[in-house]
Amino acid sequence: METGISVERAVALLRASVQPLGAETVSAPEALGRVLAEDVTAPLDQPPWPRSPLDGYALRATDSAGASRETPVTLPVWETLFAGSWPGGETPAGHAVRLTTGAPIPSGCDCVIRQEDTDGGTEQVRVFRSLETWDNYCFQGGDFRTGDVLLPAGTRLDGCAMGILAAAGLCRKELSLRVHRTPRCALICTGDELTERDSAVLPRGHIYSSNAALLEYRLRELGMELTVIYERFPDDAAALADTLRLACGTSDIVFTTGGVSVGARDILHEALPLLPAERVLWRVNLKPGSPLMYSTYEGVPILSLSGNPFAAAATFELFGRQLLAVLARREDLKPQAVRGTLREGFPKSGRRFVRGVFRDGVVTLPQGHSSGVLRSAAGTNCLAEIPAGVPSLPPGSEVTAYLL
Ligand code: AMP
Ligand code: MG
Repeated sequence: METGISVERAVALLRASVQPLGAETVSAPEALGRVLAEDVTAPLDQPPWPRSPLDGYALRATDSAGASRETPVTLPVWETLFAGSWPGGETPAGHAVRLTTGAPIPSGCDCVIRQEDTDGGTEQVRVFRSLETWDNYCFQGGDFRTGDVLLPAGTRLDGCAMGILAAAGLCRKELSLRVHRTPRCALICTGDELTERDSAVLPRGHIYSSNAALLEYRLRELGMELTVIYERFPDDAAALADTLRLACGTSDIVFTTGGVSVGARDILHEALPLLPAERVLWRVNLKPGSPLMYSTYEGVPILSLSGNPFAAAATFELFGRQLLAVLARREDLKPQAVRGTLREGFPKSGRRFVRGVFRDGVVTLPQGHSSGVLRSAAGTNCLAEIPAGVPSLPPGSEVTAYLL
C-alpha cells in the first residue's frame, strides 16, 4: 500500500487499477447519455432527395443566362411544390418550379433562385438574376450518405447525437444500440452519528447524513446507476466487511464515507482486511480529504472518502470521477482543468482544492473553507487549486480550477 502520496500519483494508481466495463444492448430511445460501443452507420441518405434550402424557384441555370433586374428572363411555372410534396416528373427545359424551403428539387432542375430575386409569380415568373449550376442546391446525401459512419464508437449520446440518430431513422423503439455499461455504484456512509434524510426525528448526538444525499444525487447527475445505498452504516467493522463484500458482488464500484482517519472508530482500517481487500493507497497530500483510502476486492474498486462533507464532496470530484471515467469510458467525467485569476487572495499554505465560482476567467472564493462546512459550496462550480510551497496567494494570482 502506498501512503502519503501526491494527487497525481493517486490518480495514476486509481486509473491503472480498473478496466472499462463491457457493452450491453439498449433500445435506441433509451440510449441518452450512453457511450456507443460500436460505430453506427447510416441506413439512408440525408436529405433523401435533392431539396431546396429556401423559398424560390427551381430551374436550369442555363435558362437564367443574362437575367438581371433590367433584363429579366420570364419562365412559365411548371408546378408548385411545398415541403412534403413530390414532383410530378422531370421539369421540361425553359420552365421553373415554384417551391418552398424543404421541398424536393425536381429532376431536370439544377439550381434554385430565391423568391426575392424574382417577381414571385405563380403562373409565370420573372427572374432577375442569372445563376450557376448547383446554386442553392442541397444534394441528396449532403448531410450523410448511406453507409457513412454516422456516429463512431466512443461517442457519448447527448441530445445532438440523439437527433442525428433520429435523422437517420435510428431512434426507433424497436431498434437497439450497443453501448458501454453504466457503472453500478454502491454508496455506504459509515458513522454511528448518522440519520437518514427522510427521518423527521434527529436523535441527540446525531446529524443528517448529508454525504449520502450529496453523493447519491451527484452520481445520478453524472448518469450513474445506484445499486446499494446505506445512508447510515454503524461503525462496526465486521458488519461493514460483510456488506462491502456483498456490495462488490452487485456493483462495479463502491464508495464509502467516514472512518478513514486515525480515530478509535475509524473502522475502515479494520473492515477492509476482513474482506480481504487489497489496499492500494491511504493518505494523499491534499486538503481537504487527505485520509483518502483506496482498495479493491475481486477487482471491484472501493474508494473510501473522509466523512467531512466538503472533503467527501471534493475528493469524490477529484478521484471518484477519475475511476468512473475509466469504467464508463467517459473521459468527459474527468474534471476539466482551466486557468483563472483569483479575485480575492487565499491566506493559507499547503496544497488545497477550495470551492469557488469560475466565470469569465475569474475565480471567486466564498467565505468558509472548512471541510466540515458544506453550505458555502452552494452555487460553486469549481475546485480552485492552491499550490503547495507558497505561504499565501495574493488577489490576482493565477490558479488552476477544476470545473465540476
Ligand atoms: P469521519 O471521517 O468518520 O471521522 O467523520 C468526520 C466528520 O464528518 C465527523 O464530524 C462526522 O460526523 C462527519 N460525517 C461523517 N459522515 C457523514 C455523513 N454521511 N454526512 C455528514 N457528515 C458526516
Ligand atoms: Mg466516523
